[in-house]
Amino acid sequence: MIRVNENYFKLQASYLFSEIAKRVSDFQAAHADKDIIKLGIGDVTRALPRACIDALHKAVDEMGHDRTFRGYGPEQGYLFLREKIAAADFQARGADVSADEIFISDGTKCDSSNIQEIFDAGIKIAIPDPVYPVYLDASVMAGRTGKFQNGRFEGICYMASNRENNFIPDLPAEPVDLIYLCFPNNPTGATISRELLQSWVDYARENKAVILYDAAYEAFIQDDGVPRSIYEIPNAREVAIEFRSFSKTAGFTGTRCAYTVVPKNCVAFDGEGTRHALHPLWNRRHCTKFNGVSYPVQRAAEAVYSDEGAVQVKELVGYYLKNAALIRQEITGLGLDCIGGQNSPYVWIDGKMDSWDFFDLLLNRAGVVCTPGSGFGKCGHGYIRISAFNSFENVRRAMARIRETLT
Ligand code: PLP
Repeated sequence: MIRVNENYFKLQASYLFSEIAKRVSDFQAAHADKDIIKLGIGDVTRALPRACIDALHKAVDEMGHDRTFRGYGPEQGYLFLREKIAAADFQARGADVSADEIFISDGTKCDSSNIQEIFDAGIKIAIPDPVYPVYLDASVMAGRTGKFQNGRFEGICYMASNRENNFIPDLPAEPVDLIYLCFPNNPTGATISRELLQSWVDYARENKAVILYDAAYEAFIQDDGVPRSIYEIPNAREVAIEFRSFSKTAGFTGTRCAYTVVPKNCVAFDGEGTRHALHPLWNRRHCTKFNGVSYPVQRAAEAVYSDEGAVQVKELVGYYLKNAALIRQEITGLGLDCIGGQNSPYVWIDGKMDSWDFFDLLLNRAGVVCTPGSGFGKCGHGYIRISAFNSFENVRRAMARIRETLT
């Protein structure tokens, strides 16, 4: 008898965004004339940088001639892109990462989930709360959790991020094997200092754990003191895998290109305690189940590292950061406590009321859609997330309406 993967029944339906969509469509049905401004879902709104579009066109034309046509590319990605990444994103910042440690993929969402396949089924996973829900759901689907009770899955070590710890989780009090960290953080927008990141690397080394470091929002970091990569931290190579994405850096959410770094000396252990490099395992997994990102898209990603591309990407990120600064300024002006928005497109706001009540208030009275913090985990209760991904004009209008509603 064919059986389903019953772990899927444990999942807490993708309640958050479907519930938001339902409330917004109910509101729209009842108030057809009302204009709604969406500052909820974290998708970019501005066009791809010109340099990327030009590279994309050129590569598409190459595909139209037998002489320049490309079929299957290397599963790990073309060297022209991997070399640029290694040089610009790591070596130029003093982080020791080489091109052959980089795996190009179609997204950090998939990579940060699929990476679990190379670890034993019995490992203990530590996940921040609040969290980008993908890490948790991937753990549930893989059968690495127990039941869902009182808002939490058995078997997961939840790491609270709250006002008390400046939204940086404390080191786990119990032994854990695989640790998800995300900085700049989604949903809180928090960043981590070099010293604290060092303490995580030290923890992982002492406890023979591995850190999965999601740096999808790295491009938003403005402060020189904030590490852009975990590999800026001494010895991190032994214990950390890093994920980066062109989605938010260069507006690739619909174009799809990302990469994962698995250093050659990053290891895990077998039942006898023997060390095994993770690089060959991920290489095997990647080559077996993934057939590479399309050639034109990799050329478009490569253009991010050209002189014009770098300027255009900076401008793109700067545009959203200006929105984020306005959100912060308005929210602070209303006397509400918030973090994020400085090195991140997200502002995390303590609404001093139930998250969904605050969501309804902003939707019904201001016509603004935010994301209720409780949808990201227990520790998100009482918070909302406002995203800077919209036009400056829409953000300005939304914030004026919020000000009017709350004063
Ligand atoms: N990681 C984090 C923390 C995110 O917030 C997102 C998207 O919102 C992703 C990864 C997804 O990245 P990608 O578009 O490369 O799949």
